[in-house]
Amino acid sequence: MAGIQIVGVKKSFGAVEVIPDLSLTINDGEFVVFLGPSGCGKSTLLRMIAGLETVSGGDIRIGERSVVGLAPGARDVAMVFQHYALYPHMSVRDNMAFGLRNINMADAEIDRRVTEAARMLELTELLERKPMQMSGGQRQRVAISRAVVKEPGVFLFDEPLSNLDAALRTRTRVELARLHQRLKTTMVFVTHDQIEAMTLANRIVVMNKGRIEQVGTPMEVYHFPATRFVAGFIGSPVMNFFPGPLVPSGNDFATLRIAGGFDLATRVPLAALPREAKLTAGVRAEHLVVDAASTFIAKADVVERLGERTLVYVTLQDGSFAVAETPRDVDVNPGETVGLRFEAARVHLFDESGKAYHAAR
Ligand code: ADP
Ligand code: MG
Repeated sequence: MAGIQIVGVKKSFGAVEVIPDLSLTINDGEFVVFLGPSGCGKSTLLRMIAGLETVSGGDIRIGERSVVGLAPGARDVAMVFQHYALYPHMSVRDNMAFGLRNINMADAEIDRRVTEAARMLELTELLERKPMQMSGGQRQRVAISRAVVKEPGVFLFDEPLSNLDAALRTRTRVELARLHQRLKTTMVFVTHDQIEAMTLANRIVVMNKGRIEQVGTPMEVYHFPATRFVAGFIGSPVMNFFPGPLVPSGNDFATLRIAGGFDLATRVPLAALPREAKLTAGVRAEHLVVDAASTFIAKADVVERLGERTLVYVTLQDGSFAVAETPRDVDVNPGETVGLRFEAARVHLFDESGKAYHAAR
């Protein structure tokens, strides 16, 4: 077991700077997810922790010691990739044991570890099979079990579920969460999939262009995104954004004139906002609710009935688009004109730099 400290780490490939300067502390036993769009540097950061990539500057500490000079095998980490490279001619058992035999571990200890890992990942019945005789999900579980038998201080996962179909991805995700609960070992997991991040992480590290936008629990990044980037990246459907000028509100909270004339009264304290800021309001579909009593009028274009919620995609009076939600007992059909009510306490404001301002709690 070990925590990880990343201190002022930089990475360039030739003249291309991928990570300008990144610091992060991952606690012992924590499940941390690096989340961000493709190309933002997640894998590079993970590979530097693993020792598969050198750092261009800064320090990485695992447990008590700096690992920047250490080979991957000396770092007490085990990594699982998206492309699980199993040995096709070997049984599951031999695939799992291979790395341990290579370091001359005693047979009895190898047996103990393989049996234990197989039990945890429900591979006991499959130990004598070859990878060819297994499904993609089973093969990925073998790849994970190969890391488990090493009993590392830290697990590193790089998009390990991306090659699985949707149903298997969900199941394997739950198995990973169970595995973490049992082992309580530090896990660092890279993904561009916000659902994986939300469901697996103790804390999510949202990355953008080699920088950290926010570090927080799933609920923190969802309800209190630190930046417009985080607000737009997390949540489905994507948050609605409405730019507009501040207008006098008659109280201590900001009112924004949006969508060509509607005065949106927020609960964001005026005192928190920078002077003369150009602002954009942000609100999620579930906090923009169909309500006949509202004077914020829109035309329903598309109604998506998803079972647990019904989304209404609308065109606003200034021609811009938004997505709202309709309560269970309010039926909406395409072409109808609807009123939309903002849940003021859930409206965020963003300044030009992207910094977020939330409603007073
Ligand atoms: P992510 O995992 O978030 O999709 P990566 O860490 O793989 O992103 O890549 C971050 C950036 O670094 C990308 O622009 C990528 O093209 C670049 N990059 C990654 N590895 C190399 C390499 N070996 N040589 C040159 N550029 C690289
Ligand atoms: Mg990657």
